[in-house]
Amino acid sequence: MRTVVVDAGHGGHDPGTSHFGLREKDLALDIARRLKQQLQAAGLSAVMTRNRDEFIPLSQRPAVANRIQADLFVSVHINANRKRSVSGIEVYYPRESVVSPSASYPPRVAPAEVALPTSTVRQILWDLVLTRSRRRAATMATGVCRAMEQQLGVPCRWVKGARFVVLREAWMPAILVEVGYVSNRQEAARLAEASYRQAIAQAIAAGILASLRDGVIRQGQEL
Ligand SMILES: [Zn+2]
Repeated sequence: MRTVVVDAGHGGHDPGTSHFGLREKDLALDIARRLKQQLQAAGLSAVMTRNRDEFIPLSQRPAVANRIQADLFVSVHINANRKRSVSGIEVYYPRESVVSPSASYPPRVAPAEVALPTSTVRQILWDLVLTRSRRRAATMATGVCRAMEQQLGVPCRWVKGARFVVLREAWMPAILVEVGYVSNRQEAARLAEASYRQAIAQAIAAGILASLRDGVIRQGQEL
């Protein structure tokens, strides 16, 4: 069974963005819960990084997925812009970045295979693992944005690489979905509706399931 970690952005003393009486941390948690249900209904195992209004440091979020060797990490956020006319969906995947020398091994790289790894060897091993999961994440990000655009009738603004902590510290394919702009009056009104949040969860799940069917994400990550 494949395992997806669903991460509701922000929480606790970090409300995220707030507009029209709506707080990002509340909307993200509600959509994440619905997404978890959708994934479970489709036969996947789904685990949440938080299931209540609590603060979780950024690094601890991908750490949850790393610890249980999840197959996919999905972070849910709500966007905002000073220009209130801006609206739409954005999906991000990890952009290449230099791995810190203190980084631990990806789980599938047995230390025995490299008796005394130099930092260069470690960097190469990391690159092998991360290049592949990054490529898969980019494909999945595109699939999710497309599914959301089709099912919600909201434009997918872009699919981009980004250096967000929650993405770059995950050992498995990781995506971050900005489901809409709460600073936009029309999108805020839709986000306030439970039925729309349910539709968002269904669309994200549909994008994930389509990528799984296409073999974008396979169970485990053999090097
Ligand atoms: Zn956010």
